[in-house]
Amino acid sequence: MDITHILDGLNDAQRDAVSGTEKAALILAGAGSGKTRVLVHRVAWLIQVENVSPYAILAVTFTNKAAGEMRERVQQMQQSPVGGMWIGTFHGIAHRLLRMHAQQLGLPDAFQVLDSDDQFRMIKRLLKSMNVDDSRWPPRQVQWYINAQKDEGRRAKHIAPSSDHFEQKMQDIYAEYERGCIRSGLVDFAELLLRAHELLRDNDEIRQHYQQRFKHVLVDEFQDTNTIQYAWLRLLTEESENLYVVGDDDQSIYGWRGAKIENIHRFQKDYPAHKLVKLEQNYRSTSTILKAANALIVNNDGRMGKELWTDGEEGEPISLYSGFNDQDEARFVVDRIRDWASKGHARAEAAILYRSNAQSRLFEEYLMAAGVPYRVYGGQRFFERLEIKNALAYLQLATHHENDAAFERIVNTPTRGLGTRTLDIIRGSARAEQISLWQAAVQLCQGDELTGRASNALSGFLNLIKQISSEMAAGNLHEQVEQAIVRSGLIEFHKKEKGEKGEARVENLEELVNAARQFSYQANEDDSLSELDAFLANAALEAGEAQGDESEDCVQLMTLHSAKGLEFPLVFMTGVEEGLFPSQRSVDDVAKLEEERRLAYVGITRAMQQLYITYAESRRLHGQENYPMPSRFIREIPSELMQEVRLGTKVSRPVVNAHAATSGLQKKAEGGFKMGQRVSHGKFGEGVVLNHEGSGAQARVQVNFAAVGSKWLMLAYAKLDKL
Ligand code: ATP
Ligand code: MG
Repeated sequence: MDITHILDGLNDAQRDAVSGTEKAALILAGAGSGKTRVLVHRVAWLIQVENVSPYAILAVTFTNKAAGEMRERVQQMQQSPVGGMWIGTFHGIAHRLLRMHAQQLGLPDAFQVLDSDDQFRMIKRLLKSMNVDDSRWPPRQVQWYINAQKDEGRRAKHIAPSSDHFEQKMQDIYAEYERGCIRSGLVDFAELLLRAHELLRDNDEIRQHYQQRFKHVLVDEFQDTNTIQYAWLRLLTEESENLYVVGDDDQSIYGWRGAKIENIHRFQKDYPAHKLVKLEQNYRSTSTILKAANALIVNNDGRMGKELWTDGEEGEPISLYSGFNDQDEARFVVDRIRDWASKGHARAEAAILYRSNAQSRLFEEYLMAAGVPYRVYGGQRFFERLEIKNALAYLQLATHHENDAAFERIVNTPTRGLGTRTLDIIRGSARAEQISLWQAAVQLCQGDELTGRASNALSGFLNLIKQISSEMAAGNLHEQVEQAIVRSGLIEFHKKEKGEKGEARVENLEELVNAARQFSYQANEDDSLSELDAFLANAALEAGEAQGDESEDCVQLMTLHSAKGLEFPLVFMTGVEEGLFPSQRSVDDVAKLEEERRLAYVGITRAMQQLYITYAESRRLHGQENYPMPSRFIREIPSELMQEVRLGTKVSRPVVNAHAATSGLQKKAEGGFKMGQRVSHGKFGEGVVLNHEGSGAQARVQVNFAAVGSKWLMLAYAKLDKL
């Protein structure tokens, strides 16, 4: 037992937090103050000093990545593998519980996890089959409603009927959706949590079992727990009172998804004997970065109030760059990363953070063009790609015929002549008889309701699935996956698609076989999932938080939300513009605006050495050119902490006003396009040159077209005639 080893590298407050003897504890502290570090050391302390069995420990982290890191760090400190301990995300742990107790919950053993994209599609189809006007009850809103109810622990039957037509319809849809999920053995993300809670709440024996087993429950990022997660934690620890939570009210960024900052207050009431530790020293960032973060977050009201300090160095000023458009912003960022790498730094030390997933595309384009490897977290993840989801649906339907979501996805993919009319008949019959689409299809093939052609096509499909499922009985996981893909006809289907897209899809399908080959499933002592089911659940749940080869040195791209808890020497916080960050929806709502500000605080505090904040003076969003203002968050950072980056002569500032352009500036662009030159373009018609930049293959001009407004065009491609 080496206590010093565990307390090594911790300051006094952290040691206090790690070695406390109180049952419950709340470690409330700002970004980069060592909360996660304390949690990891606490686990090691419990095992090594307090002789707690790893079996008695349950640790909840925010992402699977964080869970993996925690396991690794504990093992490092232990210098041996730790079996028996449960570490994972709320969803991952709930899933595991559901698998182990499917029967008690009335779930089929082979229930399938419905990811949010599948959930959305299912709701869309449901609205159609119920003849609901989807302009009044848009599927997104319905999805949000259902998940919000579940996050609060409410099933359809718990909600009082409403005299309001709109609300009542929502309730009806929710009830119908619940029936549909049960019928096809599907469990969505919110349902995982809700069921896990019901499992403990309604089964005394099971609850007591886990209460006795998990003597120590630890939670990272506690500020972002929602109502049902908190209720679940409460049930688990109401006897032992051993709940150890770490969090930061200033980093609560999931209010929009039901997270409740109030859980921090609730915890303090529910665990009156808890130990409270505040950590105030930041070990992550330079003092400049920290000052900026502190100055920004004081603009929020009602904070629990913590000030961070560091004795680290002052570091470089924060660099502020104003791109004249979003492409310029992307190019700037990629250039800085190349500089960084050319000085011998790892690319993986650089992170590009953005507010919305759609922003990643431009960065990806420029990184690709520059030959810089990168990895995108979240967004269009590997397992969410169309062709991958289709292939997975073949596997799902072959193993679980009742899976309606899978049935819908592939019944006519690749196309096999099953039109909407036939599908509507199948859906109608399934709904009327409360049976799965598969069963309905089997019945219809035997009856005479379908035309001969439709009936043939449908039974062809059913036979194909049956064939795949019998072939899959043998072989190991990757052979099963490969077999199903080959049989499905998806490869030929995508090969026929034109261009690179089809090729990329075929490659991805091949990659799926690789993923299956690499998938290593260790059956737990207490659940018995087939390897294929484990693989499918993994695809839905973990959806490869990252894609790409883990071993390659890649620039990291992710949303600000998914950067929570992480740190990088070099950080670019991009698109820092009014309407984007803070988002348009939040600018008129104080609570939402404050959440955006906390998100900016999270972004700034990811940076260890150097932070760039960038924005664009014009940006294409949803197919439209916008001219946003720099974000108010930039103004909230003291200007003495920032320096504006100017690229001098390389970039000419945009001239938005055509009149100004024609009157004064007469710089010549490549190809002799002067500002003010009148030009004509095959597609856009006539216009006036407003601006130009770059040279050679990169030369571009901005033209204000009478018909379509201002556009940037690459001279190498756009055929422009001078008038
Ligand atoms: P966040 O709020 O962003 O999740 P956090 O409070 O969890 O941050 P950690 O990630 O645990 O902070 O720690 C931030 C960095 O500071 C890490 O690199 C960690 O290793 C380092 N660190 C924490 N405590 C100490 C210490 N006492 N001495 C040296 N480095 C430390
Ligand atoms: Mg942390």
